[in-house]
Amino acid sequence: MSASSFSRRQFIRRAALTAIGFPFASSLAARAAASEPRKLGFALVGLGSLSRGQLAPALQQTQFCRLAAIVTGTPSKIPVWKNRYNIPDKNVYNYDTMEQMADNPDIDVVYVVTPNGLHGEHTIKAAKAGKHVFCEKPMEATVEKCQRMIDAAKKAGRMLGVGYRCQFDPNHLECRRLAKEKVFGELKTIEAGFSRGISANEWRLNKTLAGGGPLMDVGIYALQTCRFVSGEEPVEVTASFGPVTDPEKFKEVEESVEWEMTFPSGLKTKCRTNYERNDANSFMVTAEKGTFGLNPAYGYNGGRGMRSDGQPIQLPAINQFAAEMDDFAQCILNNKPTKVPGEEGLRDVKIMMAIYESARIGKPVKLV
Ligand code: NAD
Repeated sequence: MSASSFSRRQFIRRAALTAIGFPFASSLAARAAASEPRKLGFALVGLGSLSRGQLAPALQQTQFCRLAAIVTGTPSKIPVWKNRYNIPDKNVYNYDTMEQMADNPDIDVVYVVTPNGLHGEHTIKAAKAGKHVFCEKPMEATVEKCQRMIDAAKKAGRMLGVGYRCQFDPNHLECRRLAKEKVFGELKTIEAGFSRGISANEWRLNKTLAGGGPLMDVGIYALQTCRFVSGEEPVEVTASFGPVTDPEKFKEVEESVEWEMTFPSGLKTKCRTNYERNDANSFMVTAEKGTFGLNPAYGYNGGRGMRSDGQPIQLPAINQFAAEMDDFAQCILNNKPTKVPGEEGLRDVKIMMAIYESARIGKPVKLV
C-alpha cells in the first residue's frame, strides 16, 4: 500500500465514523492508524520459479510488504497472477514498460528475479522510475554491471538490497554469534559446499545470462558463509575447475569448481560447488576449542546443525524470504541502511571473478 492510498483510506474511515456520531471516533481511528503498520508495495520482476514458488507466497506472510505489481514478458502468466493475488490491470508491466512505474504510487520496491545477467538492466530501469530495488543473488554477471546498479540507485536516492536470505536465518545468525563471541576460540578453518544437478537448456548454462556456472548460482552461498560467519574479507583465493564430464552441457560455464580463501586473521576456508548432483549443502567451522556448523545449511527451511560440545543448533525455522523483505521494508520506512546493500553483492561478484581468474591461470589471486 502506498503512503497516499493508506492515508486516504484512513481519512475516509475516520470521516465515516465521525459522521455516524461515534464518540471518540477520530481518536480511535487515529490509534488504529498508528498501530497498523504501513505496507510497502512490491513489484516482482520475472515470474519464474522463485517468484512463483517462494516470493509471492512469502509476501503474504510479511508484516510490512504486499504484492502490488508484476512485471513479465510472458502475457499468458498474467491472468493467473492477477486472480491469485488481486493485482489490478494498471499494476501489470512488461520489461519495456517498467519505466512507467514512475507514475504508480502503489509500487515502493521493485524485486528483480530475472536471470542474473539481466539484473542490471532491470535494476537500473526501476531506479530510474524512482523505486527502491531488491535484487536476487548473484547481483549481476560482472563487477562493472554491479557498480552501475549501485550508481543508479544512488543517483535516484533509492535503496538497493541483494537477496541474501541466509543472513536472516536464525541458525546462520547463531553460527555467526558463536564465531563473533569466540565461544570455541579463534576460527581456524571453514569448509563449505553447495551444489545441485541441472538440466540442459536452462539459462543457467548460458554465460551471458548466468555470468558463470554453479559458483555464481549456488557456490555463492558457501562464499557468503565464509564471509558472514567469520566477519572477515578474504585477501587471497586459489581455485581450480573440476573435470568436464558433459562437454555438450558445459560449453559456456564451469561444471564444478573448488576454491580456498585466506583471511587476515589466518583463517583458511575450503569451498566447493558443482552442477552435477546435490551432494553438498553444509558448512563446518573448526575453531581452537571445537567445531560447529549446519548440515543441511542452505535450504529454504533453514539449516540445522551441531556443536562439538554436543549442543544442537536448531532454532525454529522462519520464512527467510519474508524476513529479508520485511527487513528491507523496515529499513526504507525507518531510513536505516540495509545489511545486504549493493556493495555486499558487488563484493561477492569481485571475489567470484578472482576465483575464476585463479582457476584459469592456475595461481593464487590476491584481493584488494
Ligand atoms: P527461472 O528461470 O525460474 O525464472 C526466470 C524468469 O525470468 C522467468 O519468468 C523468465 O521468463 C524470465 N526471463 C526474462 N528474460 C529472460 C531470458 N532472456 N531468459 C530466460 N528467462 C527470462 O529462474 P529462477 O530460479 O526464478 O531464478 C531467478 C533469479 O533468482 C536468479 O537470479 C537466481 O539466481 C535467483 N534465485 C535465488 C534463489 C534464492 O534462494 N535466493 C533461489 C532461486 C533463484
